[in-house]
Amino acid sequence: MYPNILRHPGPTPIPKKVELAMAQNMISHRTEEFVKLYRDTTERVKTVFGTKQDILLLPSGGTAALEAAVVNTVSPGDEVVVITVGAFGDYFVSICEKYGLTVHKLAKSWGEACTKEDLIDFLKPLSSVKAVFATYNETSTGILNPISELAEVVRNHSDALFIVDGVSCIGGAPAEMDEWGIDILVTGSQKAMMLPPGLALLAVSERAWKVIEANSTTAYYLNLLSYRDWASKGMTPNTPAISLIMGLSAVCDLIEEEGGFSKTIERHEVMKNMVRESMKALSFGLLTNDQYASPTITAICAPEGLDLPAYLGHLKKKYHLDFAGGLGHLQGKIFRFGHMGYCFPSDILQAVSLMEAGLQDFGYQFEPGAGVNAAQKVFLSSLRK
Ligand code: PLP
Repeated sequence: MYPNILRHPGPTPIPKKVELAMAQNMISHRTEEFVKLYRDTTERVKTVFGTKQDILLLPSGGTAALEAAVVNTVSPGDEVVVITVGAFGDYFVSICEKYGLTVHKLAKSWGEACTKEDLIDFLKPLSSVKAVFATYNETSTGILNPISELAEVVRNHSDALFIVDGVSCIGGAPAEMDEWGIDILVTGSQKAMMLPPGLALLAVSERAWKVIEANSTTAYYLNLLSYRDWASKGMTPNTPAISLIMGLSAVCDLIEEEGGFSKTIERHEVMKNMVRESMKALSFGLLTNDQYASPTITAICAPEGLDLPAYLGHLKKKYHLDFAGGLGHLQGKIFRFGHMGYCFPSDILQAVSLMEAGLQDFGYQFEPGAGVNAAQKVFLSSLRK
């Protein structure tokens, strides 16, 4: 009877307007109707990516688009750099290794960001790197890498392409792909884009298209040249996720209704600060510092003496509040509070209030209301701006 309060870093809640859009009658992808939907929708999504390039839509999870970014741009034996600050950076390493690339791994500790100084030093001895891969928002730790600065370093210190996994933040974080000099930017539908899983979105720079044209890729289903050819006709090479594209069109409406994408980004900033201040007020630790904190997900450390797995299980069972646990070595030590997409300051107040209820059940010593008050203070001050 009670709805699950899904505060995961994806999948995330779906707005009713998007659900209704996805419930429309099916259409064929080889009709004028589809061409209009495709052209209109992909045009509007460009603001979210900060690009004038075509937005390509793959009927897949984010991983397939990451794989497409790899297999279309580089060939076995090529040297690449992969920046990894957590589980999803490591994931990008695995994709590159699977394709037989020579991977130079720039790894930072989980909870830290990769700075431009880190990348400058790392690139110095490397002269023939074809591509640098990075995760914009590391979902396992809640780090938002300073991606515009890293893009500038790649431009100034190498001839490599800069390929970015934006799966867990595009739609909730600033992105100026063209201005920053990102060559391929990838995201998935099920996170800040407010859709169910199953649609990947990506855009490719002029520079990267030249590399892709010259590269003898072995990809068939993930062949980006084929996607580009069909996009010029307002279509996709094979059957697309039509219902999800209908939903994406409604997502664009919602962003416009909010007052434009800059307002959506502001909302995510406010929610980030509400979560961070409330956790500090409850004496919970934060895995990342404020400087590189993600606007879409916060990794929170259990305070001394609190049995975290039991507490999370209790929140889910008694209050229907569903957080994600830690990944890898952080399993059992942290939990991840997703605040992206169809999530509002009122949802943060609800979640923090239920967290406090759970803490009282556990006999945890704290000042009741401290977390909610701190979150509310951030919220109210954002309204006064
Ligand atoms: N990259 C990041 C940063 C992610 O958070 C995820 C999923 O959580 C992925 C890639 C993989 O995306 P998908 O599960 O849609 O294939």
